[in-house]
Amino acid sequence: MQNHFDVVVIGGGPAGLSAALVLGRSRRSVLVVDSGEPRNAPAAGAHNYLGREGVAPRELHRIGRQEVAAYGVEVTDGRIVAASATPTDGPDAVAFSVTLDSGALVTARRLVVASGAVDVLPDVPGLAEQWGRGVVHCPFCHGWEVRDQRIGVLVTTPNGAHHALMFRALSDRVTVFVGEPELLDATARAGLTARGVTVRDERVAHVESDEGRLTGVRLGSGEVVALDALAAASAVEPRVEHLDGLGLEVSDFLVGDVRFGGMLAVDGVGQTSVRGVYAAGNVTTPTATVIASAAAGTQTGAAVHGDLVQADLAAALAAVSAGQPTR
Ligand SMILES: Cc1cc2nc3c(=O)[nH]c(=O)nc-3n(C[C@H](O)[C@H](O)[C@H](O)COP(=O)(O)OP(=O)(O)OC[C@H]3O[C@@H](n4cnc5c(N)ncnc54)[C@H](O)[C@@H]3O)c2cc1C
Repeated sequence: MQNHFDVVVIGGGPAGLSAALVLGRSRRSVLVVDSGEPRNAPAAGAHNYLGREGVAPRELHRIGRQEVAAYGVEVTDGRIVAASATPTDGPDAVAFSVTLDSGALVTARRLVVASGAVDVLPDVPGLAEQWGRGVVHCPFCHGWEVRDQRIGVLVTTPNGAHHALMFRALSDRVTVFVGEPELLDATARAGLTARGVTVRDERVAHVESDEGRLTGVRLGSGEVVALDALAAASAVEPRVEHLDGLGLEVSDFLVGDVRFGGMLAVDGVGQTSVRGVYAAGNVTTPTATVIASAAAGTQTGAAVHGDLVQADLAAALAAVSAGQPTR
């Protein structure tokens, strides 16, 4: 592996590989470092990705890797464990270096952070084991698969009523479980009742499974309610612990007044608070689906190329004024 690139892309999911694709096709030297843990890995298929509807998440990564390799992009399995930026006097203004978990040190003119996000799950025993299978969060990602089934909805925020109504559009057998009654006000309760949703003011103590399949929930009272699926919201935190050395600004991910996690602050094309560090996908937009993350990666990759074109131009003009030969 060479150790200097125009761009190092951190994360080879839909966002990172899409950025790499546009950069590779623009004849940039690109390294993608990917630790191979996409956010949707527990799910059998990625839905709403036109042209590849229902593709297995890791299969999409495999196809993406093959496609970027055709344009000379280097993809390596590994994890970035540290990154730093050094200001320079040259047209690039800054030089980056990243360290891989192998110990390898790589330098780059620009970074694209596409390391995704991590779901922080409600603390209910048995829930994590079913995440992405019997426990679902997104009606668009998994709703069709649980249509007409017995769906429970775990209410952990005031947005729980809306979440339940989204699933009510898919099944007329929806039961809401509210451990903290104040999370649903009278209006929310009236709306759920009007739509035929059963509201149980009871704490879910355990998610029940049998041979890997979710079978229901056990309540604090000990009663077991049989279900085919449980909908639960997660908090979503950006995977940026490896980037502490860059001092990137992280902002709150708010839904109404409720904090649902964090995200890297970026402008319209993915430029972060640190010049030359770009970001795309779930690390900046926790609600972005696979296709939206891929689209953001494409846009950000194009912006990075445009930025480098300007730096190359500045370097050429400086060489001309210094009477040096240009390329
Ligand atoms: C259970 C579940 C099911 C979902 N189902 C769907 C669905 O059906 N349809 C849909 O459109 N969306 C779905 N989503 C959302 C989907 O997961 C995201 O839209 C998508 O993964 C975002 O792409 P990304 O490239 O930003 O991040 P990711 O796909 O998470 O990719 C990030 C990559 O970066 C790597 N990485 C992280 N840190 C580092 C590091 N330090 N160094 C190197 N590599 C690193 C990770 O290993 C990973 O491979 C689902 C989400 C969940 C939780």
